[in-house]
Amino acid sequence: MSAPAALRHEKISIEALKVIQRLQQNGYQAYIAGGGVRDLLLGRHPKDFDIATSAHPNEVRRVFHNCRLIGRRFRLAHILFRGLFIEVATFRAAVDAETDEQPEAPLAGRDEPPEAFRARDGMILRDNVFGTAEQDAWRRDFTVNALFYDPEAHKVIDYCDGLPDLERRILRSIGDPFVRFREDPVRMLRACRFAGTLDFQIEPHADHAISQLRDDLALASPSRMYEEVLKLFNSGAAEAIFRHLHRTGLFRVIFPEAGAWFATEEGEEALLRIYHVLRQMDVWKKHGHGISAPLAWALAFGPYHEQRAAILQREQGLKPAPALAIATTEHLRGLSKRVQVFKWVVRDASLLMAAQPVFEKTREGVRSSRFRTRHYFGDALVYLKLRSAWTGQGGDLVHWWQQHL
Ligand code: ATP
Ligand code: MG
Repeated sequence: MSAPAALRHEKISIEALKVIQRLQQNGYQAYIAGGGVRDLLLGRHPKDFDIATSAHPNEVRRVFHNCRLIGRRFRLAHILFRGLFIEVATFRAAVDAETDEQPEAPLAGRDEPPEAFRARDGMILRDNVFGTAEQDAWRRDFTVNALFYDPEAHKVIDYCDGLPDLERRILRSIGDPFVRFREDPVRMLRACRFAGTLDFQIEPHADHAISQLRDDLALASPSRMYEEVLKLFNSGAAEAIFRHLHRTGLFRVIFPEAGAWFATEEGEEALLRIYHVLRQMDVWKKHGHGISAPLAWALAFGPYHEQRAAILQREQGLKPAPALAIATTEHLRGLSKRVQVFKWVVRDASLLMAAQPVFEKTREGVRSSRFRTRHYFGDALVYLKLRSAWTGQGGDLVHWWQQHL
């Protein structure tokens, strides 16, 4: 179990190394866990370094004076450094969904309040039982996400055979995917996310399980789903992930209305525009340019909202701007049973859509200078540019606005 030559030890943050060293000096096991180890082995730049330890939260607090405990259901320690913190979690054991008799909230965002129960048999309702390092590995989702790295001993610890899967770029569920996806349906979405970001194949049995269980994703907490969908937009691999979502049918479960339209002939063509836009978002991300949540939602569903707006114009005689605003608001708000899009995100996405016809109208005069000061103006202009790049129309309008910024 020695460290493969490829593990980029030097990429580990000093702070994470310090935390691990201190915990080990105090007699505890402490490792880098999960995505950080996976990314170091793949030569990727880890987003962060999560630490897993045998120390209980109160013991972690005793070791570090710069420590804050967070979370109600499962206590995590944050060790604070100047401008950042390192998250330390105590090893956890899997909870057996069959015998778990003390349901709290459905497995959800860390601090999410208990909410309407949609759980059904086999779904894990809590995950707050301490365990050993090995148990902690087995409760994780995919084999490549269950690796530990001991930076003091320079050793990778691989309880679930993640290393061969990493080598072959396979995303394999730990244990039976039918059981694991029933326990927590969001793992299916995570499978698509990792397959897209890491460019891995979803192992065929897991892929089959997704095709059978995909409707269970509707049981996930809408606020957790919102966080997950935002992660997709910001992943730098949004196009690849959305292709997986379509391929597996998960897209239609998360976004039923838009999904149904994309399955039509007209919608299929629009889907190409969406992929084009997502590819552009990935390029921005690669260059370090994040985009706002309203712009991401507006771009990802632009053609659908435009089509809905055209119907509203035709059937209800609405003007273009209000039709776009209403179509966008109705769709994003209507998702709330599946994905709880924040109210301000819905509002700003609608505003930037309603701004599209305004670009044409306010080329000149006082009104254009006021228009320019709106907080959504920049995002609206990005939408205009991408739309024009795709449709090949309105290039002169984009040009005019670029000249007059
Ligand atoms: P990223 O780089 O995108 O953050 P990650 O692997 O770190 O990827 P996180 O969502 O940050 O993913 O989760 C950290 C780790 O926690 C995962 O690597 C995995 O081991 C475990 N994990 C997270 N969510 C689940 C889940 N739903 N079921 C089982 N294990 C999970
Ligand atoms: Mg992570």
